Amino acid sequence: MTRAAVEVAVVGAGPAGVATALGCARRGLEVALLDRAHFPRDKPCGEGLLPQAVDALAALGLLSRVAPHACRLDGIVFSVAGGPRAQADFCDGAGAPAFGLGVRRRVLDALLVEAARAQPGVTLLEGVTARDLQFRGAQVTGLQTSVGPLEAEVVVAADGLRSPMRARLGLELPARRPPRLGLRVHFRLPHALAPPRLVEVLVSGAIEYYLTPVADDELEVAVLGPARAFAALELSAATLVAHLLSAATENPELGARLQGAVALDRPLGAGPFRQRARAVVTSGALLVGDAAGYFDALTGEGVGLALASGDAAAQAIFGALSTGGGAAPRPLRHLHPGPLSVALSPPARGAGRRPLKSRLPRTIHLRILIHSCPW
Ligand SMILES: Cc1cc2nc3c(=O)[nH]c(=O)nc-3n(C[C@H](O)[C@H](O)[C@H](O)COP(=O)(O)OP(=O)(O)OC[C@H]3O[C@@H](n4cnc5c(N)ncnc54)[C@H](O)[C@@H]3O)c2cc1C
Repeated sequence: MTRAAVEVAVVGAGPAGVATALGCARRGLEVALLDRAHFPRDKPCGEGLLPQAVDALAALGLLSRVAPHACRLDGIVFSVAGGPRAQADFCDGAGAPAFGLGVRRRVLDALLVEAARAQPGVTLLEGVTARDLQFRGAQVTGLQTSVGPLEAEVVVAADGLRSPMRARLGLELPARRPPRLGLRVHFRLPHALAPPRLVEVLVSGAIEYYLTPVADDELEVAVLGPARAFAALELSAATLVAHLLSAATENPELGARLQGAVALDRPLGAGPFRQRARAVVTSGALLVGDAAGYFDALTGEGVGLALASGDAAAQAIFGALSTGGGAAPRPLRHLHPGPLSVALSPPARGAGRRPLKSRLPRTIHLRILIHSCPW
């Protein structure tokens, strides 16, 4: 039986996966980009894009898609409860004014996925889970997915912080430090925020509060800290809003920002943050974004790094596939026929063919429909 095959299979359609898929497809490679979720989907994050992330979006040609849905951020302020406060405007490496963006991840990731969907050469498979890797000896040769096997010359694991693919590739290293956790929730403010719009980081004992404007009258609050501090404060998704409203009565900075604010959604949590990888490349597979190792959300650079690492991975993959590992360029491999590869064919090759869902047996079809794993 012939099997489905592409040049590059990317697991995870977050910022790292989308940047990898766009970078590969724009260089002429055939890409399958799969995510177990259907978009728009939510993801716990501080939702502040620093100027480097804005630059990375611009480099990928995505800034004009995102900016209309985001809140422009002018700078950042750090303060310690009852102690010092430091504020700075954003600037670029040469000291010229720069800006960041506050944008809900539900919105940002859906916009990025739309860009991938519109990119010739990328086939987006939503609601499809990568269940395992396929190997020939030590060489990764593809994936086992919830809709069948998929052969690939290169598999890219962009499957996030906990990355089951990293573990399966034997690239996981144990964490060396006590675990840190994060929680986030959105608030509607009683009035529009006046400029300058700032990301605010408030340090209170072992806990940090990150306040990021994501719209004229919306603030995202993320709380980060060691797992033991969360336990001592009985801080969880269930108690987050009550904790913040109570902390606002004791902390004047938090109180000023949250006065009259109303929680808008269900708090989400993530962690432990410290995830390490022994290496980011192995035979036939690469790790990008959080999967490649993650230090801490407090840096606020996760999305920018995810976009940049995806683009760098695409360059490396194109180089490797173009030369076949040697000096002479070789033609790119053609797709094999077969049910999944038919669905994976770009419009030029797949014109007139029925989409994946209509070609699958009913049970698999149903599995795709019901499969949704939001973070
Ligand atoms: C509390 C918190 C606050 C943060 N604050 C900020 C901030 O303010 N600014 C910033 O830049 N960064 C921040 N970060 C970091 C940022 O969220 C991450 O660095 C970024 O999301 C990494 O993107 P990614 O594409 O690597 O992974 P993700 O965005 O996590 O995407 C991974 C994707 O893989 C999919 N997936 C996983 N397993 C499978 C599978 N088996 N099959 C198919 N699909 C799969 C998931 O559904 C998901 O869509 C924060 C993180 C946390 C937790």
